[in-house]
Amino acid sequence: MKIPTYARYDYCAKRACDFLEEYNISSYPVDVEKIITDNKWGLTPYSLIMQQFHCDRNTVIRCLRSMDGYTQLDDDNYSIAYNDDPELGDRKRFTLMHEIGHIYLNHLVDFDITLLYRNELSKKENKVLENEANAFARNVLAPISLVRQLKDKAPENISSKFGITYYAANTRLDLFKKDFEIIDSIGLQQRMGNIFRKFYNKTTCSKCNAKFFLRYRNFCPICGSKNTLKWGDGIMDYKEYETTVEGFVETCIRCGNKKIMGNYCQICGAPARNYCTNYFWSEDNYQACTHSEPLPGNARFCPDCGAKSLFFHHNVLNAWNIEYDQFMEEETLEVNIPTTSDGFMTIPNEQPKKLPWGDNIDEELPFN
Ligand SMILES: [Zn+2]
Ligand SMILES: [Zn+2]
Ligand SMILES: [Zn+2]
Ligand SMILES: [Zn+2]
Repeated sequence: MKIPTYARYDYCAKRACDFLEEYNISSYPVDVEKIITDNKWGLTPYSLIMQQFHCDRNTVIRCLRSMDGYTQLDDDNYSIAYNDDPELGDRKRFTLMHEIGHIYLNHLVDFDITLLYRNELSKKENKVLENEANAFARNVLAPISLVRQLKDKAPENISSKFGITYYAANTRLDLFKKDFEIIDSIGLQQRMGNIFRKFYNKTTCSKCNAKFFLRYRNFCPICGSKNTLKWGDGIMDYKEYETTVEGFVETCIRCGNKKIMGNYCQICGAPARNYCTNYFWSEDNYQACTHSEPLPGNARFCPDCGAKSLFFHHNVLNAWNIEYDQFMEEETLEVNIPTTSDGFMTIPNEQPKKLPWGDNIDEELPFN
């Protein structure tokens, strides 16, 4: 196939939409490395190539003919190399999605691109492929349907919500109208809307994987971590406890007493309403935290100040990781104990299930 004269932006937008559906993207910033490892594609930082070949970074850039990243197809597996120069800042997510763009847009196969051939591409041909991969990457990493939902559309905010650089956030804004028109003209609005509707109003924590129907900002109410909240859907429903409109639990969590009459269970003394201890226990009327509302029954921490909740302080609730470990164990059991057709268990030979957040936890600021 011949490289097209102009970038096929409608094709890129459509493929971005296919990608979001196929990989069931349901939280932002997108965990790009997980997509790469799940596909069993290779992933090599330039620094490793430098070590292996005893050369400097510029030599790697020159040999791979790319400042940011490079994708290669061997037999039928892809491997991606990327520039991990710390000077480049938070560009990794975009670089990797750009390389995935080359793969998902089928560039290497359709145009039979090898390292040797890459050298023969004209500047213009190269630019077409680069523009296509960039269009794919921005429509996956910062889709216009989601950017539209942001109250604050400043590049700083876009950069932190989607985990892209300030520069990439500006490009996203510059091309907003153009991408909008393309997506609209090929009738993708509805499909894109359906992808995101599932988690428009949800928050998840990249540490404990809790699922929230509220937008918490500072601290995760389940695990108490700061800056681990992301926009999107989680996989864990931490056990919830029914409360009255005033926030009283209907059944004592500790002893099961169903006739709670005051602020404390008259049978076991457990508190009946959950609060931020930083608010509740303030000395001399000094209120360190402004969260005066009762907290949800399963909150171990205050979402505003990160202090322990009253329930957690009194050991009415277990540490979050007990529930988490149980959940993961059940998941692993389901996955790892396949049975043969005659009903016997086979010995699992799969690799242990990878933690859902991969190796590096996103440090992006939570949604507001
Ligand atoms: Zn490229
Ligand atoms: Zn958490
Ligand atoms: Zn009780
Ligand atoms: Zn608080």
